[in-house]
Amino acid sequence: MSSPGLWQHGHGSQHPMKPERLRRTFELLDQLGALRADNVEVVEPRMATGDELALFHTPEYIEITRQLSNGEQNLSAEKYGYGPGDNPIFQGMFDTESLKVGSSLRAAQLLHEGACEVAFSFGGGLHHAGPGFASGFCVFNDCVVAIQWLLNQGLRVAYVDIDVHHGDGVQNAFYDTDRVLTLSLHQDGRTLFPGTGFVNEMGTGDGTGFSVNVPLPPQTYDGAYLRAFEEIVPSLLKRFEPDVLVTQLGVDTHYTDPLASLALTTTGQQTLYGLLGEMAPKWLALGGGGYALDVVPRSWALAFGEMAGYGLQKSLPKAYREKYGGKYLRDQQGPDINDAVRFRVDEAVDSVIVEVKRAHNIN
Ligand SMILES: [Zn+2]
Repeated sequence: MSSPGLWQHGHGSQHPMKPERLRRTFELLDQLGALRADNVEVVEPRMATGDELALFHTPEYIEITRQLSNGEQNLSAEKYGYGPGDNPIFQGMFDTESLKVGSSLRAAQLLHEGACEVAFSFGGGLHHAGPGFASGFCVFNDCVVAIQWLLNQGLRVAYVDIDVHHGDGVQNAFYDTDRVLTLSLHQDGRTLFPGTGFVNEMGTGDGTGFSVNVPLPPQTYDGAYLRAFEEIVPSLLKRFEPDVLVTQLGVDTHYTDPLASLALTTTGQQTLYGLLGEMAPKWLALGGGGYALDVVPRSWALAFGEMAGYGLQKSLPKAYREKYGGKYLRDQQGPDINDAVRFRVDEAVDSVIVEVKRAHNIN
């Protein structure tokens, strides 16, 4: 799913959620020839309608967001999570953010119609927004809207969130139902926004046991992350038997990301994409965070390669290199982690694995 409308407006030049992240990703995929593969179709989404946004958001919030986006003053923006800092109001906000929801929703519809097995809405993955408030750079929660639409078609949905931040908005939306399994691996909430996502957040009522959290210590590197993932995610997905796997593929787990402290490389991220693809009956892949501009396009291009089964060249295309710098698609270097840190991370990750397995009866 792609449209220039996804990157025409942004939160402002000082804000880390730059629309350029999406534009560069599209450029890189285009220049790699990935979009011209026989089994690939680029679909231009439309904006979500008010009714579609209302699959999750309150009518009041939708209307307020529209008015603020139109430049109306005299509204209590703070009450709805808006203001300078994380969620500034910007020109074109309503249309841009509705288009992101429309993109993820159209992707869900194409999967349901059987038009494809995998759909990638890389402008989506805005997992922090609540029903009536903006949060953590997220205005509308396309993840929840798309999942809710799939539920309305009678499907079982599993959601796996590998963004470095806890997928709080999605977890909260489905906290009391057993029809959605939400799994989030993220940097420990004691050290990062939004401060939630602990193992004991397991759901409530019918949803008890259907929210799964894997909080990881700062400096968690490829090997430790993949160990936690493989010990926990496959068996839970197998047990749940979803019809559709929805994934939030934030790449802010990267070791150079300026907003967080995990230590993955694009090699580790690519392994994760491959594992998710293997486990997905149908795969709705969404974007997410990632604030190192040279990482986001490369990592999502690697994700796209896994989705399409498209073997990508090693070097960045010449035109892309000349415009943005860099040489290779995959990282040629990794984080500098000494033995003492590695030992501490391994110990902490192993104890989280034990805790999650015990809480969720994983053998
Ligand atoms: Zn994030």
